[in-house]
Amino acid sequence: MHRHDQPHHPSAAPSPLSSPGSRAHSLDLVAGILALNFTNTSSGRGGPEHLEHLKAAGDVLAWVHHAGGLTDAEMAEAARLAPPGSAAAVELFQAARALREAVYDIALAFAEQRLPPAAALAALSAIHADCLSTAGLVPRPSGGFAWGWDLGRNLVHAVLGPIALSAAGLLLGMDLSRVKQCGGQHCGWLFFDQTKNKRRRWCEMSVCGNRAKQRRLRRRRGAAA
Ligand SMILES: [Zn+2]
Repeated sequence: MHRHDQPHHPSAAPSPLSSPGSRAHSLDLVAGILALNFTNTSSGRGGPEHLEHLKAAGDVLAWVHHAGGLTDAEMAEAARLAPPGSAAAVELFQAARALREAVYDIALAFAEQRLPPAAALAALSAIHADCLSTAGLVPRPSGGFAWGWDLGRNLVHAVLGPIALSAAGLLLGMDLSRVKQCGGQHCGWLFFDQTKNKRRRWCEMSVCGNRAKQRRLRRRRGAAA
């Protein structure tokens, strides 16, 4: 069994860009939707076991690369454009955290079957519009077209644009009753439940599902003793 804060992909070497202790480059991508996976770069929010994997711009780049949003060459180019401590790095980090928190607040509301906060919707709308302002329609190798960005034109838009599009796509066209929050203790990860009967409860059965099962067993044994 592994925890979200412990490495368990033997192949995932620490990214040279990540902050010490951050697993942005190797976190499990179990949410089914890019924007929800992005919210899972933090876990146990508000509790004693809170883990934050986005502590600097390098973590943002490492995660986006890990999630398939940047090629190796693009990540190297982005790291060159936003070296640690630079104004560009600060801007990227702040924009990434703002986008992530907006998506989290909105998706959590869906998971709790209430209306999302207006401030979070306004923030996502603004970031989405900003990102699209420098995007262009480009042909995809597999056919059709997609929004594309130029890292050199606007780094923040190029790195965060796909995540903003993913979040907007969720709101505009998907079954929001499938947005759920993991029931695991100190977890809080969000995911899109694609099971037929909509009864998925855990981010990962092997992490939170098993831990809950063990807690139930311990309680039952305690009661029997
Ligand atoms: Zn979980």
